[in-house]
Amino acid sequence: MTYASKGSSELQRIYNILKNLSMEFDPDLASKAYPQFPNFAAHLAKLFIDDRLFDIMQRLETQVKIVFKYNPSIRPALDPYISTQIGIFSKEISDFEIGHFLNYPDCCIKSFSEEIRYGLDEKHRSEMKPNGEVFVTTAGFIPHSIYCDEAISKGLVGFIPKSSVANLKKLEKELAILLPHCHSEYQEHYYEFMGE
Ligand SMILES: [Zn+2]
Repeated sequence: MTYASKGSSELQRIYNILKNLSMEFDPDLASKAYPQFPNFAAHLAKLFIDDRLFDIMQRLETQVKIVFKYNPSIRPALDPYISTQIGIFSKEISDFEIGHFLNYPDCCIKSFSEEIRYGLDEKHRSEMKPNGEVFVTTAGFIPHSIYCDEAISKGLVGFIPKSSVANLKKLEKELAILLPHCHSEYQEHYYEFMGE
């Protein structure tokens, strides 16, 4: 059994939820099984039953395999093709439900949805105290603070030595090659770096 880093086990967590919901899960029961994101769980269960997500589990298995190979301390973004198919970018489901599905902390979801923040901004940059390390976050996740304890404990943000950046870029590249997709904004973009 390989040791799973936080970044790997957090992607595995998403895989486990989707795998569970892919097994002809009744939408009402899905809502009850996932009280943190009841509407989104029902939505996913319905999509699986209608066979609209027939090709995502194989892609996700590939992503999990690659990520376990690199075992990063911070989770890369979920494959953009899968995210699009399951409705992560849709405005119909609340930010909180999507955030809970992705294991984002409430403090960060709140700051994202109330202050309407897009990616790492001036406020994040002003928090940065130079320590010779690079700040990394899962692409698409916007921490309420770069020092958010809960986001750190969930493998969504962290500081890494400059020498470790290349490893994450290699992981991004391999994901881009093995999981090509058409989402123009997210080409080879699974992480966000600050202070490189
Ligand atoms: Zn937070």
